[in-house]
Amino acid sequence: PAAAQTPAPSAWLAELAALFADRRAAFNTLDQRTGDGDLGTNLAGGMAAAVRRARAAEPTLADDLTAVAGAFLDDVGGSSGPLFGLLFQQLAGALTVPGEATEAARLAAGLRAGLAAVSRVGGAQPGDRTLLDALHPAAFDGDAPRGHLDEAAVAAALAGAAATRDLVARRGRASYLGERVLGTPDPGAVALAGVLLALLERHDG
Ligand code: ADP
Ligand code: MG
Ligand code: MG
Repeated sequence: PAAAQTPAPSAWLAELAALFADRRAAFNTLDQRTGDGDLGTNLAGGMAAAVRRARAAEPTLADDLTAVAGAFLDDVGGSSGPLFGLLFQQLAGALTVPGEATEAARLAAGLRAGLAAVSRVGGAQPGDRTLLDALHPAAFDGDAPRGHLDEAAVAAALAGAAATRDLVARRGRASYLGERVLGTPDPGAVALAGVLLALLERHDG
């Protein structure tokens, strides 16, 4: 029937958008303490735009991530638009490389590629109090590349995000606030860890 062919977001993408819509005020409040207070609006707006972009009748995870990447790159400003956009673009790309790798292994490779892209464009390193402080430990266990996006990788991202509460910022708007940001985690790192947790729930092994 024609109705079954109507493009619609996957249940996963719809839930992700609902999650960030629910967290809009919370992320704005965190960003108010350490920046300009718009991160919740940026993330919720990007996810809502991704839902509107969904085109596939039966979207794969790669389709969803491609929609999210395009929405963040085209429709979201601030730092989070281009930087989350680049990461989602690399994750989507890793899922569509030919070969036999599992989805969890592809996502780990996508995290490494995303880390490199975000670091190159944004100029930050782990320890600068940015989303890289969640992304790097998700992609690497110490110096060793992680083989899979798994529970350990997401736990490391969550711990890395929480540990930013003790860091002074060297990049982004928080760098203008010096020690006033101490005690509040970097909101972009917290959001990134939340995205990875949602990805862990979605991927199929
Ligand atoms: P803006 O400061 O432009 O309002 P957002 O509020 O959209 O940006 O996003 C803020 C988040 O972006 C920060 O919490 C931080 O995690 C991340 N961020 C800012 N600058 C950089 C950078 N150079 N590299 C990586 N992440 C960054
Ligand atoms: Mg902001
Ligand atoms: Mg802003």
